[in-house]
Parts: sequence; structure tokens; C-alpha cells
Amino acid sequence: MNFKGLKKTKDKKGAKGTRNPKEPVAIFEPQHLWSALKTSPVTKAPKLLFKYAIRWICREPKVPGEAAHPEWPGYTGTGTKLNFKLNTRAYKSQELVENTVFSFFPMSSDRNLTPTQISTRTKIISLYRKAKNKKKPFRTRDINRFLCLLDQFFFFGAMVNNGRPRVYCKLWQKQSGLIKLCAPSLVKRDKMPWGYTRHRHIKNYGPFEMIHMPAKDFFDYPEKISVSFLLETLVHEMVHAYVNLFLCQCRACHKDMINTKGITGHGKTFIMILDCIDYTLRTWDVGLSGLMRQVVILGGEHHIFDEVKMLHQHEMELYRKLAIPVPEDWHDHAPPTLNPTAPTEETLDHKRTEVTEDKEIKGPRARWVEVNAARALDDNDPEMNVYMTAPQVGGTMVKLGKLNQTGDIVQALVTDAAAKSIKNKIKRKFENWPKLDRYFEIYAGLHMNIH
Ligand SMILES: [Zn+2]
Ligand SMILES: [Zn+2]
Repeated sequence: MNFKGLKKTKDKKGAKGTRNPKEPVAIFEPQHLWSALKTSPVTKAPKLLFKYAIRWICREPKVPGEAAHPEWPGYTGTGTKLNFKLNTRAYKSQELVENTVFSFFPMSSDRNLTPTQISTRTKIISLYRKAKNKKKPFRTRDINRFLCLLDQFFFFGAMVNNGRPRVYCKLWQKQSGLIKLCAPSLVKRDKMPWGYTRHRHIKNYGPFEMIHMPAKDFFDYPEKISVSFLLETLVHEMVHAYVNLFLCQCRACHKDMINTKGITGHGKTFIMILDCIDYTLRTWDVGLSGLMRQVVILGGEHHIFDEVKMLHQHEMELYRKLAIPVPEDWHDHAPPTLNPTAPTEETLDHKRTEVTEDKEIKGPRARWVEVNAARALDDNDPEMNVYMTAPQVGGTMVKLGKLNQTGDIVQALVTDAAAKSIKNKIKRKFENWPKLDRYFEIYAGLHMNIH
């Protein structure tokens, strides 16, 4: 089904193809900088040039229509190495989810875990136990230790451990002087998030993510903020960072964002990875988790607060609000072909009619973009090895056959690596023989000379 979703963005052209005078000037374009320099006083020139330089360095690269979508280089894909590097902003949603999940999802005898992952898990558990009993406040360096270990266990070390660091985390204290400049969202007390991730791109360095989190002293009842709560937030933000860094951002993938990344960033890609991480952390049985799943007693009745369900509902609500039918006089694209038999589409169509009157979606900064329709959650492709069921039924499903297959591959690679290491040791030993022989000759010679 074709329809158009609305995206609020800095659109350079107004409705009739002319620049809207209220629109901010895109300062990183040379001609705009030149005209700004000509019209403003000389004293403002250094400031303008500095702004221009910063925006030019941080400018996002242009995305292709449809990217090449490389195959997964690691052992769950086509590769044969336990240590490998990932390309940034390259993989399709399904590729990213499946290869990530099978590398850590719990299975008998930890067959799918590498020796590094097994030792990392022990480190995470012992560090968590120490942090829980520590009386000193939890600081940025403490949270970064967890960031490093969680990255090693769940994400192949791709964000912090292998190659250029691509994620930075800051746990802000309330009295920090730089907070207004670096993490303004945390200062707005009425809307204070538990954490957020900001994407950045630096010329010649590539993409990276910045995680900002408020420390205990931001909350009304700081004594109730536990280390596990902060780590749960960290895990949530790390999944955002991972998806932002490695999910392909080409126009074809962007068009399908309702079914992958999501409008709020909490789409299926995010939920499936986080749900599987949460399941894994709970099996360790130490009090670590990735999602909020609490039983709330309200008016004597038990209610289950399920974060997966909440995130998915919020995502779909926003989608229904923004997805509206193509106007009849829309000349650039073909009119939508509605399928009245599909229940999801009918519901969406109904909601869309309501939203056309919404004032929020009209305005000079709004621009139409074409997006794919949302696919039903339980309408999973038989080729999918990880898929999401309706949140009311349960979260994410993983195919055991593929998990066993991953376990076999990892075990074969571990055995191979161990055999190679023994072989190398023996080789090194024999390489030393001629040296020893020479030393013996020298020693014997000296010995003889003395006598
Ligand atoms: Zn793509
Ligand atoms: Zn989030």
C-alpha cells in the first residue's frame, strides 16, 4: 500500500517552491555563509566562521537511494572469525537483529558464547555485586566500565572495544557546570528523561553516539535509585546507539522505518534486540535486566507494566497520527491503492482521516515523505529466525534450530583457535632450538678456552 507519512524537517522550500523567510539559513552551505558574512558586521565574522566550521565538520554524509547492504562478516553470517569488525550504518534490520541475538541468547552449556564472552559475563556479575554494595556515588567512570563490558558481551565489542570508540557515556551530576551546554534535555526538570542518545558524525572519524544520563541527585527520591535502574537505562541507551551505528540509513531502509527502526527509535529492530538482552540478563539471576516488567498493585488489583508493550503502543500511536492518505492533487506520486480486506490497513485508514485535521502536522517546516505501510507483527516471514509476536502474547521469538547451528559454529571455531594456539606454541619452541644450540656452543667454547 502506498501512502505518505509526514516528517517534520528543515525544508528549504516553501509550498510554492520559494524560501520561507522564517526558515533558518542552512549555514553550512558556502553561498549562505557568504551572504551572511556580507550582511552582518565585521565583529560577528569570527563567530559566523566558527559556526560554519563546526557544522561543516559535523555534517552528515549524503545517503544513497539503496545501499549495497553487505553480508554479516561474523560467524553467525558468512565469516569464519570470532573477532571481526562491523561496517557502520550498513546492515539491514533483519541481518542486524538475527546476527546480534544469536551471538548471546542463552542456550545449553553456553555453546554459542566465545571464551571472551564467558569471562566478560563473570566480570559483569562481580562488578555489579561490588557496585551494589558500594557507598560512594555512581560516577561516569563506573558506568563506563559497564558500558565496555556490556559492549563486549552483547555487541561483539563493536562500539567501544574494537577499533575507534563509537560510544561515549556521561552520567551527569546535578551541580555540573557544563550540563546546560552539553545535556540541556536533562535540565528541563518537568520532562527529564532517564537517559538519551545523541547521534553525531565527525568528518574523517565517522559516526558516533553520545549517551547522556542523569545521576541519582536529579531524582526526587535519590535513595530509591538503584544501580540496577541506572544499568537498565544504560542497556536501553546502548541498544539505541547500536541500532543508530550499524543499521543501514539508505533511503530504501528509511522508507521502511515503520517496520524497522521506528519513528521514535523504538521500532521492531530496537525492541527485538532489547527484549532478547533483557531475557539474557534475567537468566543470570543477579538482579540485572534491560526492560521494565513490574507488577503494580493499583486499587487492590495486580497490573503488569510491560515496557515492550508500552513502547510498541506509543510507536504505533505516533505512526497512526503521522500516516495520512496522499491528497488527490498530489502529482509527484501515484495515488494510494487501498486494500479494504486487510484489517491493519483499515484501522490505519480510519485513524488517518482523523489526523488530517490535526493542526500540528501543517506548517511551513513540514515535508511529505513516502513510507511503507506497517506490517502486522505476527505476519512473520518463514525465513525470519528472530521475530516479534504481538506484544499482548509475548515479546520476541527465537528459532532454536538457528541457535543450535550458531552453537556448533562457535564450538568449531573455539576448538580450531585452541588447536592453532598449541601449534604456534610448539612452532615457537622449535624456533628457539637453533638459538639454544648457539648459546651452548658459545658456552662450551668459553669453557674450553678457560681450560
Ligand atoms: Zn539500506
Ligand atoms: Zn529509548
